[in-house]
Amino acid sequence: MKPYLILGLMILTACAPAIVQETIPPPAPTVPAASPTDLPAAETESATDVTNIFSALPAPSCSGVLTPSNAEGPYYTPNTPERTSLLEDGLRGERLILIGHVLNEDCKPIPDVWLDFWQADGDGEYDNAGFTLRGHQFTDQQGRYSLETVLPGLYSSRPIRHIHVKVQAPNGQVLTTQLYFPEQPVDNLTVQVQPKDGFQLALFDFVIE
Ligand code: FE
Repeated sequence: MKPYLILGLMILTACAPAIVQETIPPPAPTVPAASPTDLPAAETESATDVTNIFSALPAPSCSGVLTPSNAEGPYYTPNTPERTSLLEDGLRGERLILIGHVLNEDCKPIPDVWLDFWQADGDGEYDNAGFTLRGHQFTDQQGRYSLETVLPGLYSSRPIRHIHVKVQAPNGQVLTTQLYFPEQPVDNLTVQVQPKDGFQLALFDFVIE
């Protein structure tokens, strides 16, 4: 590089304003921790009937330990669409079906519980402009929920696989938490995973007040 260019750069650098620490993180991580190139796109056709998938759900059993809260993080978007499948064309990641109950401290299923899920895709990317991989639903009369989605990828600032969720019983308080996976378990917040034909089945029962 020519000496006058170096001098120019030095002056520019010296005059640049100090970088202010952002309190709000950037809208989306651009450098996923996982390689984005070798992930298959999820099947967009739902091959699993929800009534059938519940046959894989064990009867609720719990110790009455409340599901702990966990950080909301910076990427929550309210007013999500109501849906139990987040799959759509071009979505990247391995297909995942998460099922479970929402129980009270006496291990009784709670119907009509609002659950609002949000997560990164298989490349660790959030959609912060739209509602990709975001959706809410309500437990059925047996306190069950099901979420058809993809396995969330890792992103640079959170190298741990997780799904965010808000849970609220009718007239109850909102529990904001995250679900984790067995490879990096977190106490009382880790799903059980069973490989199935063409997808991973994850099980998790919430216990709320
Ligand atoms: Fe996150």
